[in-house]
Amino acid sequence: MIKALFFKMGYHLRLHRFFKSSGPGSAVTALCLHRINPVNDILFPPLTPGVFAALIRILKKEYEITGFEGIHELVASPSRKKPALVLSFDDGYKDFLEYGLPIIRKEKITVNHNIVINCAETGQLIWTQRLNNILSWLAATQKTLDIDFADISMHKKVEGQLLAVKAELFRILFSRPYTFVDALTTSLEKKYSFSQPAGEMMNWEDIITCQKEGVEIGSHTICHGSLGHYDDAAFVNNEIAGSKKILEEKLKQPVHSLAFPNGWAHPAAYEAAIKAGYKNLLLIDSVKYDFDLKPGPCIYPYKRILVGHPSVYENVFNIAGFHKALRR
Ligand SMILES: [Zn+2]
Repeated sequence: MIKALFFKMGYHLRLHRFFKSSGPGSAVTALCLHRINPVNDILFPPLTPGVFAALIRILKKEYEITGFEGIHELVASPSRKKPALVLSFDDGYKDFLEYGLPIIRKEKITVNHNIVINCAETGQLIWTQRLNNILSWLAATQKTLDIDFADISMHKKVEGQLLAVKAELFRILFSRPYTFVDALTTSLEKKYSFSQPAGEMMNWEDIITCQKEGVEIGSHTICHGSLGHYDDAAFVNNEIAGSKKILEEKLKQPVHSLAFPNGWAHPAAYEAAIKAGYKNLLLIDSVKYDFDLKPGPCIYPYKRILVGHPSVYENVFNIAGFHKALRR
């Protein structure tokens, strides 16, 4: 509450402008959003439609907003008065269609949205969301999390320490291959007879509706497995090149953007994305990349700022670079 007030006062005093690093002629500010939903989820908080709409109105005053396809023309335009900004969404949640798109349409802006093929194809949730749902249910029903799977043994009360249990579990799983985390998640669903909610991800019809409304569709891989490892080159290459091929067949147009799941990119996965023909390589600015994110004549890496604070003004400060300055 005090934090929200601090950012609100700071915004009205225009203090966020001290952090703004992307003036005309300098780099593009790229944002990464996920869900727009009025119902909160403590483990993966969405922006409410009200916060999203207010944020767009503020950003439109301070930036010129376009998609990745039009950004170079905008940056080069001599008539451009404000810094350039791209709004990019990941994952393909249906609430984008229900709550995000009407606001995007009203504000007449172009955005990018990156789709997980398996979710569009089968309606299945991303494995992280499946685990979030299980953990939330365990907390609500005061059950313990009991995992005995391969080398992982974890027995925890979840209620009252939901975020800590999630952090511990995800810390272990983020370094494991996709097939492992999928099998573990499936084993928990079976063990607890837990049915995941249906209809939360956009299907192909929804995605094509977005495309027709001018949303630039990109790839967010096939399974949302980590591309931070390269132990299984065939898996990584299929996630990258295979997802591009499927999307292009479905959309009947070239796909130029790849969002690396969780922003993690092994140098070989980064190279594989270039080789597959992607132009826009979408990363996350809070992730450390200890290799050269090679730009090229037609290769554009974007370190996107994650946007997900409950207060619109805190998001404005985050986008201006306040949180990044604190991390340094
Ligand atoms: Zn994602």
